[in-house]
Amino acid sequence: MGEFTLELNEDQKQVRDWLHGFAADVMRPAAAEWDEREETPWPIIQEAAKLGIYSLDFYAQQFFDPTGLGIPMAMEELFWGDAGIALSIVGTGLAAVGVLANGTEEQIGTWVPQMYGDANDVKVAAFCSSEPDAGSDVASMRTRAVYDEAKDEWVLNGTKTWATNGGIADVHVVVAVVDPELGSKGHASFIVPPRTPGLSQGQKFQKHGIRASHTAEVVLEDVRVPGSCLLGGKDKLDERLARAREKAKSGGERVKNAAMATFEASRPAVGAMAVGTARAAYEVALDYARTRVQFGRPIIENQGVAFQLADMATQIDAARLLVWRASWMATAGKPFTNAEGSMSKLYASEVAKSVTAQAIQILGGNGYTREYPVERMHRDAAIYTIFEGTSEIQRMVISRALAT
Ligand SMILES: Cc1cc2nc3c(=O)[nH]c(=O)nc-3n(C[C@H](O)[C@H](O)[C@H](O)COP(=O)(O)OP(=O)(O)OC[C@H]3O[C@@H](n4cnc5c(N)ncnc54)[C@H](O)[C@@H]3O)c2cc1C
Repeated sequence: MGEFTLELNEDQKQVRDWLHGFAADVMRPAAAEWDEREETPWPIIQEAAKLGIYSLDFYAQQFFDPTGLGIPMAMEELFWGDAGIALSIVGTGLAAVGVLANGTEEQIGTWVPQMYGDANDVKVAAFCSSEPDAGSDVASMRTRAVYDEAKDEWVLNGTKTWATNGGIADVHVVVAVVDPELGSKGHASFIVPPRTPGLSQGQKFQKHGIRASHTAEVVLEDVRVPGSCLLGGKDKLDERLARAREKAKSGGERVKNAAMATFEASRPAVGAMAVGTARAAYEVALDYARTRVQFGRPIIENQGVAFQLADMATQIDAARLLVWRASWMATAGKPFTNAEGSMSKLYASEVAKSVTAQAIQILGGNGYTREYPVERMHRDAAIYTIFEGTSEIQRMVISRALAT
């Protein structure tokens, strides 16, 4: 027999079961309450921190799992528990990835631990790229970072929007324009340390789903950060800008920008979140179809219902396989020649939306009420086709990859 296997090893199974226990015993029972409250579930984040689930160590361990399956397996279990609470627990990870992707070792060592705090004093972090006029069109970003050479400080001005944990975070990672001539190639990422004057929370959004996760505008007014807060450092930025200017002159090859590097690394993880929500709704629907009796027999005995469940199960497994493939490729250093990361996010997010809608249908009137969790799961699932690049943007990325 060759080496190929899709079976999790014993360590992975242990971690999966441990996370599943937390998701089933702590997250599920609290899900409806925090959805209604539309507030960050601090006590649950604290509980996760005490158990080691909300910690840099835990994510680093999963991130460095040599099979690549650590992160998708963890995401699937937590989002199976509840998407809103899970996003409150893993939202810091997006900012952490922003630093890991672009920061120096010293910056990683200084800032990433501060993003999490510790079990007695938990903190969260925010990654702020989107703006009111720059969502999918990242190149339209206006938030400006200007270097004050005399003081070795960067001065940030602008308004960010849709930031998960925006304004309640201790550490904010902010993407800003350093050279407006270069479009998205003229962007850089900055750490805004805790309690920096000039950074404030704007509007907090009331959302359709994932309501336990805080989403808000972040306003930056003459925010001054030390030169050391430019991720990657000034020399690397100057080199990158010089290369981009050269290439712009010669009309040459594409250069990855800071925000895109973060998104590329995180897309399969978002696919795994979607798989978790889809699986949760499917399980409720399956259970219901086996027990709900109409016309003298369980509704699953009608082919119309059973075939829906068969399609749901098949699509969820197909989505997971795409996510696992992309995660394995990323860990094995394989280039995403056909945008396999985007493929996994596109397919899994669309599956989550359709599976959760079908789950409502299978539960009939009960599915439409807040007595059962599937309507919440359907509201939650709608986010996956929007954030970290909409489905349309994933299709653009995939089709461009195929065309080149
Ligand atoms: C709950 C939530 C949390 C978020 N968290 C974060 C975060 O932590 N940090 C952060 O920086 N951002 C975050 N975002 C922002 C998110 O990434 C953006 O909402 C997303 O990228 C889409 O941008 P937009 O909302 O401006 O939509 P738009 O870009 O205005 O798109 C509107 C519609 O037009 C379509 N469209 C746009 N351009 C094209 C095109 N060229 N071809 C075809 N269709 C197109 C889109 O697919 C979409 O259907 C979050 C958003 C939400 C809702």
